[in-house]
Amino acid sequence: KKTQRLDKILSHMGVGTRSELKKMVKQGRILVDGKTVKDSGIQVNPETNVIEADGERIVYREMIYLMLHKPPGVVSATEDNRDRTVLDLLRKEDRIFEPFPVGRLDKDTEGLLILTNDGPLAHDLLSPRKHVPKTYEARVLGKVDDEDVQRFKAGIHLDDGYEAMPAELTVLSHEETEEGVISTISLIIHEGKFHQVKRMFLAVGKRVVYLKRVAMGELQLDSELPIGKYRELTADELACLR
Ligand code: URA
Repeated sequence: KKTQRLDKILSHMGVGTRSELKKMVKQGRILVDGKTVKDSGIQVNPETNVIEADGERIVYREMIYLMLHKPPGVVSATEDNRDRTVLDLLRKEDRIFEPFPVGRLDKDTEGLLILTNDGPLAHDLLSPRKHVPKTYEARVLGKVDDEDVQRFKAGIHLDDGYEAMPAELTVLSHEETEEGVISTISLIIHEGKFHQVKRMFLAVGKRVVYLKRVAMGELQLDSELPIGKYRELTADELACLR
């Protein structure tokens, strides 16, 4: 589909509703290839025709790719009856594209979440056969030791009997607290079962008290991106997901 109705394109880009656009056309505020448009329903090719609204060029695109630094307390869904969702963190002009989260982080988990409306890309990233690695940083109640590292490498049996694929666990530090020893670790897993990281640690008798995803495939969470904020992926970042 090369051409589309002008009002469809412009409403998709958030310029206005169909009826607002009709009015804008009447007022001579919409140009295509430098000429004032008389009918908001004309067929236009958004890739080759130059569209302007109120003197501003409207660059059309269909896909959106966002990196969100997910804060705790919001759910990775597009709708929820009780909780705020990650979509509530987006600006209106970005929600227009109807992005959805690629995979899920638990409500209390922070870190890298990709949002896009590119179904095939999301499907590829989540496909169980592709084993896209996900890197987490966690704080775990208990002293994570070498034996745990070996068990994670061998394949942990989760509570439902599922044997997790080999995972790379690295102990970063230990800390004495009032609640006991807390270990800070990094973990790379190659699948994404429900509550996987938490369940892997439960299988070795330890509890995750803080969890953050820092990478998905080659894509790293931008350390400059404040928690709760998001931005578009750069071309290089998008390329490394493909
Ligand atoms: N593993 C978990 O247990 N929770 C997450 O949010 C992500 C991975």
